[in-house]
Amino acid sequence: MQLKDSYDVIVVGAGPAGSSTAEACAKQGLDVLVLERNQEVGVPKRCGEGLSHNAVMRLKLDLPKKCIAQEINCAIVYAPNMKRIDIKFEGTEGYILERKIFDKWLAYNAARAGANILTKAFVHGVIKSDGFVKGVAATIMDEEREIRSKIVVAADGAESLIARKAGLRTNKKLNLVDSGLQYEMGNIKLENPKRIELYFGNNIAKRGYVWIFPKGKDIANVGVGIVPGSGKTAKQYLDAFIESCDELRNGSIIEVNGGCVPVGGLMKNMVANGLVCVGDSANQVNPIHGGGIAESISAGRIAGDVIARAIDANDFSARFLEKYNKIWWKERGEKLQRVEKVREAFEKMSDGQLNDLIDVLSGEDLVAFTRGNNLLKLARVMIKYNMKGIARAVGLG
Ligand SMILES: Cc1cc2nc3c(=O)[nH]c(=O)nc-3n(C[C@H](O)[C@H](O)[C@H](O)COP(=O)(O)OP(=O)(O)OC[C@H]3O[C@@H](n4cnc5c(N)ncnc54)[C@H](O)[C@@H]3O)c2cc1C
Repeated sequence: MQLKDSYDVIVVGAGPAGSSTAEACAKQGLDVLVLERNQEVGVPKRCGEGLSHNAVMRLKLDLPKKCIAQEINCAIVYAPNMKRIDIKFEGTEGYILERKIFDKWLAYNAARAGANILTKAFVHGVIKSDGFVKGVAATIMDEEREIRSKIVVAADGAESLIARKAGLRTNKKLNLVDSGLQYEMGNIKLENPKRIELYFGNNIAKRGYVWIFPKGKDIANVGVGIVPGSGKTAKQYLDAFIESCDELRNGSIIEVNGGCVPVGGLMKNMVANGLVCVGDSANQVNPIHGGGIAESISAGRIAGDVIARAIDANDFSARFLEKYNKIWWKERGEKLQRVEKVREAFEKMSDGQLNDLIDVLSGEDLVAFTRGNNLLKLARVMIKYNMKGIARAVGLG
């Protein structure tokens, strides 16, 4: 592949957000370059790899079998007192992916659509002039390069630097980022490999939860997400949980992944002159479960359409690109903002209050809340159980 001096669009990062944006742009005939700092797309994975069937249908993803490690048809949610809600589905309700393959599949799709993708290409700066971002400075296979573009896409993940370098305020408040740590474990005892398990409680995972996402009959991603500054590290919570669990205690750790997960702070503005921000870099994650794969793909597609229109109109200004903010907020943001209220409510509850809720909520209720639906029921139950103050504080009452 011959690297050119300029492109219509440069996408920084080849995660789900970057590859989806690149594919959408390339499908509209744009000249696209994707720069990925790692030497292999999808590696290392930093993800529990869970994706709902609902999201697959909504996004019309023609998911190849090789991307799926395990199909899921039920779930258990444990309250702090270990009371449980069983959620059973008619058929396959979700997937534990093999992200190392899935991310590559997305990248190949972008490449097939015509995007040029380069790995081992670290973007360390943006070129700015006349108040516009006009390209990037990058180290590409040990060689320094400046490459121009009409629009740069910051798809560089949760620790994004690119948007900030371009002048966009993407600073994440500490309390709006979960610290995640996960082990991919082998030789564990799973009662049902088609079932995911979630454990809540302030002693188990302050503000977050522990997950067991099976990838085979004796393999699973076992992870924890917590609010930072809770006195213990994510590793301490995760190790304590594993030690307490007969099914996991003797398992082997085949892989360790960690990273931060935005769980709020949805950005009203995700564009600047010559720049669009997508995926984790714009905090586009479901605030209650931390899932960002589907959100990144949705946002990438919306961004791709708006970028194509901007290039067609020869207008790369923030004022034009604003359309992306508007469409994304209408299609995804408003829903995710409702979900954020649910997360805020749960995080303010004591273990006792969480136990009370588990007694009266069903699996369907929990699934609805994670999608920003049926919040009236949550508000009613909270009021019944003397949580009016919390409901009011988060805007549910
Ligand atoms: C522990 C953990 C568990 C998770 N579990 C789930 C889950 O089960 N389900 C789910 O849906 N989501 C989960 N997530 C969230 C999910 O992983 C992200 O939301 C998703 O990957 C976001 O996609 P993205 O493309 O925005 O960012 P990323 O996937 O992070 O991709 C960003 C890419 O940009 C590259 N990059 C960064 N900086 C530069 C640079 N300067 N130059 C060039 N390239 C650069 C990176 O190498 C990376 O490849 C989890 C996250 C964590 C941390």
